[in-house]
Amino acid sequence: MSNHIRFATRGPNGEFLPPFPIDPIELTQKTRELVCKTVDGIPLRKYTSFYGVGVYGGIATAYSVGCNIRCIFCWVDWSRDWPERYGEFYTPQQVYSKLRNIMKERGFKRARISGAEPTLCSDHLCEVLEQVHRDRHEFDLFVIETNGFVLSQEPELAERLSKYASRDDDTVGHVRISIRGGLPEEFTAKTGCASEFMDLPFEAVESLWNAGVSFHVAVVIDPRFTPEVEKNAIYQRLSDIHPSIKENVEEEYLDPYPHALVRLRAIGRIDVVGSSISEKERIAASRMPSD
Ligand code: SF4
Repeated sequence: MSNHIRFATRGPNGEFLPPFPIDPIELTQKTRELVCKTVDGIPLRKYTSFYGVGVYGGIATAYSVGCNIRCIFCWVDWSRDWPERYGEFYTPQQVYSKLRNIMKERGFKRARISGAEPTLCSDHLCEVLEQVHRDRHEFDLFVIETNGFVLSQEPELAERLSKYASRDDDTVGHVRISIRGGLPEEFTAKTGCASEFMDLPFEAVESLWNAGVSFHVAVVIDPRFTPEVEKNAIYQRLSDIHPSIKENVEEEYLDPYPHALVRLRAIGRIDVVGSSISEKERIAASRMPSD
């Protein structure tokens, strides 16, 4: 049997089945071994694709492989759960060139690293950002999406990011950090992580704030996943770091992307997915690798 961590499932009494709930710090290390490597001193990272999309007013996107948590509503394809099977390694220069080519073709001034957890390979990320920063006149925005767990473990990363994504200086980088939970039980139910790790993303927000990084927080406030009492707890903690952080929260409602439907059905959230299986969910499920 595989010792990889895929997606959460629940037993007949609603309990998470092993290996859930998980340790995101341990999963960070395991996933790094699969998606980050250094060759001749150059930090490479796995990606599955590079494309342009209409969000953010048109943005070139690098779709990275691998995450260190397991959100039950995650929209990312099976590369999140089977990182060893998907993607190719790219150098920072290759990633930068691909993003720039898409920007030129589509007339975009924006780019981002998305897909799973971009900070997993932090040296690789900072080298991409170094090239963006060098050519910053070509950009009006470069978005770095994160769930904050790596940032909480590497406080110096916030300092490094402040060079490319500063609240004060002439930079184009901007961090979008997602806070998934504000009460222990709800945090575990949404992320698949043990509740003792709930504070880490808040510590990451504090590091970003203290380092002067340009960022905003995204919170899933969809009531199917976040009750009002939890939303208030999250907002209170953000306000305690600084009131402006709460004022600038991006509030998220969840779309029923195909892989999210499969993951939600696996933990019995029939209230969200419905009892009948749609064609898009069936196709996503049929493409799931077997261990
Ligand atoms: S942090 Fe993002 S990529 Fe990772 S599991 Fe959650 S939704 Fe998916």
